[in-house]
Amino acid sequence: MNKPCIFCEIAAGRMEAEIVHEDDKVVAFRDIHPQAPVHVLIIPRKHITSMLEIEPEDAELLGHMHLTARKLARELEIAEGGYRSIFNCGSDAGQTVWHIHLHLMGGRSMGWPPW
Ligand code: C5P
Repeated sequence: MNKPCIFCEIAAGRMEAEIVHEDDKVVAFRDIHPQAPVHVLIIPRKHITSMLEIEPEDAELLGHMHLTARKLARELEIAEGGYRSIFNCGSDAGQTVWHIHLHLMGGRSMGWPPW
């Protein structure tokens, strides 16, 4: 039997996570291995394996994910200093969970490029 997708499990409330926002389209929760003082993952309730698999019909959902990042950046008080929002796509980019997630990170200054 295939293992269930952990982010689908979190979105369904079957796996514990520190949720900071949820609505009918997305769930946002604190990363279990934070790489910045604020590190939140914003996931769609819809299972999409990677950013390579998005379709034109997902455009509104992806926009909603970014608007949620902006809202949370303000609420979690990282908007003023600046924040990073990124999708890792594929193994070379460091993707380890195969359900798309927008990383929202802030609260420290960050370098570029992100090795
Ligand atoms: O972009 P990438 O796939 O590497 O990111 C996956 C992220 O999911 C990691 O930052 C990891 O710490 C996080 N994670 C989590 N809760 C889990 C499993 C992974 O916050 N149960």
